[in-house]
Amino acid sequence: MSTVYEDRFADLAAAPAPGRQQQVVERLKALLPPHALLFREEDVRPYECDALSAFRQLPMVVALPETEEQVVGILKACHELEVPIVARGAGTSLSGGSMPHAAGVVLSLAKFNRILAIDPVARTARVQPGVRNLAVSEAAAPYDLYYAPDPSSQIACSIGGNLAENSGGVHCLKYGLTVHNVLRVRGYTVDGEPVEFGSEALDSPGLDLLSLVIGSEGMLAVTMEATLKLVPKPQLARVVMASFDDVVKAGDAVAGIIAAGIIPAGLEMMDRKATVAVEEFVHAGYDLDAQAILLAESDGTPEEVAEEIVRMETVLRESGATRIQVSESEAQRLLFWSGRKNAFPAAGRVSPDYYCMDGTIPRKNIGRLLADIAAMEDKYRLRCMNVFHAGDGNMHPLILFDANDPDEWHRAELFGAEILELCVEYGGTVTGEHGVGIEKINSMCVQFSPEERAAFFAVKRAFDPPGLLNPGKGIPTLARCAEYGKMHVHAGRLAFPDLPRF
Ligand SMILES: Cc1cc2nc3c(=O)[nH]c(=O)nc-3n(C[C@H](O)[C@H](O)[C@H](O)COP(=O)(O)OP(=O)(O)OC[C@H]3O[C@@H](n4cnc5c(N)ncnc54)[C@H](O)[C@@H]3O)c2cc1C
Repeated sequence: MSTVYEDRFADLAAAPAPGRQQQVVERLKALLPPHALLFREEDVRPYECDALSAFRQLPMVVALPETEEQVVGILKACHELEVPIVARGAGTSLSGGSMPHAAGVVLSLAKFNRILAIDPVARTARVQPGVRNLAVSEAAAPYDLYYAPDPSSQIACSIGGNLAENSGGVHCLKYGLTVHNVLRVRGYTVDGEPVEFGSEALDSPGLDLLSLVIGSEGMLAVTMEATLKLVPKPQLARVVMASFDDVVKAGDAVAGIIAAGIIPAGLEMMDRKATVAVEEFVHAGYDLDAQAILLAESDGTPEEVAEEIVRMETVLRESGATRIQVSESEAQRLLFWSGRKNAFPAAGRVSPDYYCMDGTIPRKNIGRLLADIAAMEDKYRLRCMNVFHAGDGNMHPLILFDANDPDEWHRAELFGAEILELCVEYGGTVTGEHGVGIEKINSMCVQFSPEERAAFFAVKRAFDPPGLLNPGKGIPTLARCAEYGKMHVHAGRLAFPDLPRF
């Protein structure tokens, strides 16, 4: 059965009723200065997609508010007029999370880019949602502090987007994901009412709704402010680079390091296709004879690092590493990482397009999944580069294809969907750190039972009864799962007919 449901975003593409755009524009004109409201096709075109550019949809209107009062006004107006709203940070989502709605408003938070306070004593930063991830660490640097979650897109992506996607990065293995590094989120519900999750303290009374809103993909509330935890910069960091003549051995070595009780500051893997692609322009000194390399970072005091590096080298040797090199200087450490950080652009150099998948599996199955992916390359007649957060079991197969060839794109989608289904089969999840968005909406039907999806809808309905915040994303409707073939519909009778279809 085809795993790709052709009409993936039919709901989002339904054109607005005649006169609707004018009605909404007139209403928003009363709230926003002219330069903060876009509605002509040439003006809204830049917002038609996020970093998953295979999926595009022109929005009806784009609003670029500059004050919180304007945000509240937009939310209230859209609520009253029943207009869908898609919050947008930097638009770097890789799952179509910020893809617009044809009859909706894109609510850009880009102008809310101020760091409101850095408190070096409490080790916190209070920031607006449009602040870039890297800007937080830059602002904290004079206090020898930094913000640990470091998505590879950190130079561009916003804190609002990071919260919505529960973003991760190289250092999240040791320091936790976004959800572990946020104390408090303040924002507004769909009808413009203020809402707050968490507190400045380490715990807050009542249900832990902070963990609920983080990773909710802009479907529960609009974030306007966040209090982030900062951590001290380690005195020293060094990287061990280990070569393997077999990807399965490299995958198993990852499990071996963690099993030995070591939590590296980062543990990343690249296969040969990836090292060859990056080495050409980064010259990081990667071993091109190796089928895979592992990069394992240790940080802490010089004594801690020295001890941990020896332990990691021992495990890597026992796991069959053919060559081991330890960074001798900060410059060399950054050089080792530069290849990893440039792996996505490198894919763009060797192929007209690439499709970045994002699933998570138990670490012990990494080797097995990599072997399966290699077999799928033949099946789908497409190449796949593997570069990923191995320590988290978070896989990023990069499927190389040419978007000018519709058949190649179709095969790439099927290839990706099969990888995600295998992730579930191997005890993992269809989501890693890039969210569900539009991309994985069908794969959610593989992962979650009708009862679980009903629970998701109940949460959504509690926060957003009319279903106007980022509709059509994240949670698959029961009808969608039926069409996708992942729910049994007997004699045309849909289960849970009483539940609303968002
Ligand atoms: C080259 C590249 C590398 C990447 N590497 C990583 C990586 O290592 N780790 C990782 O986790 N991700 C990575 N990503 C994905 C992406 O950068 C993250 O998902 C990021 O968090 C998105 O942030 P953004 O500001 O661009 O959000 P957007 O793309 O604008 O939006 C993403 C989602 O957040 C919602 N949203 C945005 N702002 C708000 C707000 N204020 N309130 C409520 N909802 C909001 C949107 O509605 C949407 O659902 C990468 C992307 C690229 C292009």
